[in-house]
Amino acid sequence: MGVASSAEGEEPHVVISVRFLGTGGARFVVARQIRASGGMWFRFGDERGTQITQIHVDPGPGALVRALSALPPCEPLELDAIALSHKHLDHAGDVNAMIEAMTQGGWRRRGALLAPRDAFEGEPVIFPYAAGFVPTHHYLKERSGPYRVNDVDIFTSVRHLHGVETYGLHFRYAGRTISYLPCGRFFEELIDDYRGHAPDALIINVLRYHDTMDVDHLTFDQARAVIAGVRPKVAVMTHFGTRMLERHPERLARELEGELGLRVHAAVDGWTFDATTEIDAVAGNTAE
Ligand SMILES: [Zn+2]
Ligand SMILES: [Zn+2]
Repeated sequence: MGVASSAEGEEPHVVISVRFLGTGGARFVVARQIRASGGMWFRFGDERGTQITQIHVDPGPGALVRALSALPPCEPLELDAIALSHKHLDHAGDVNAMIEAMTQGGWRRRGALLAPRDAFEGEPVIFPYAAGFVPTHHYLKERSGPYRVNDVDIFTSVRHLHGVETYGLHFRYAGRTISYLPCGRFFEELIDDYRGHAPDALIINVLRYHDTMDVDHLTFDQARAVIAGVRPKVAVMTHFGTRMLERHPERLARELEGELGLRVHAAVDGWTFDATTEIDAVAGNTAE
């Protein structure tokens, strides 16, 4: 390691990290808070901290408390955007509380909201009064973008099969792509779509273990097929239901690693995924 000399014109070291304010999914896990449900806090920046873009994705129940009690805290007043993959409670329960925190109860109009249209309209989960505190609204559509938040480009995936409007998010920053694959039923096109973005890291919601029930969520076997097909450098599983938790996600992650020959993590509450370090390590870019 060692500190690089600050030669003129040197590339600043890019830092992309994802703090997991929650890793629980499914009604029971969320209702009992067996795992927290605060979503993910993305940071994109250089190590000098001249510009850090912060985006909170899927602020489920407890997100605000989890953000403020994190060490160091995730500061809502520093947020640049709040994004929802879809309007279900485990992804959006705290969205209005986060908007109020981001805007100081509406006194400071700032930031951006990204969400499918049905989160804003009809039976909105983003209350219109709260949406009014935020100057920029991006209505997400399928396979579109870039939606820009500072220097971060966000593209949406194919529409997921999940009842309400649901899109995955592909974050592109400084030549790296982090994809987030939220909830939804498995279909082949999912693999093609995510592979098309060639993500360096793939965060994937794996709610179910091995279920014959026909539901709008990925099982572990389907997640394995997606990870194998997309082939990111690093995969992170999260959003676990009870059966997944019983099977010890960390152990399943190690199994997948051996099987697929790529880095696989199982997220835990409060964990920070240091995406750039892990991606660069695999790419062999680490300075000797
Ligand atoms: Zn959902
Ligand atoms: Zn969910």
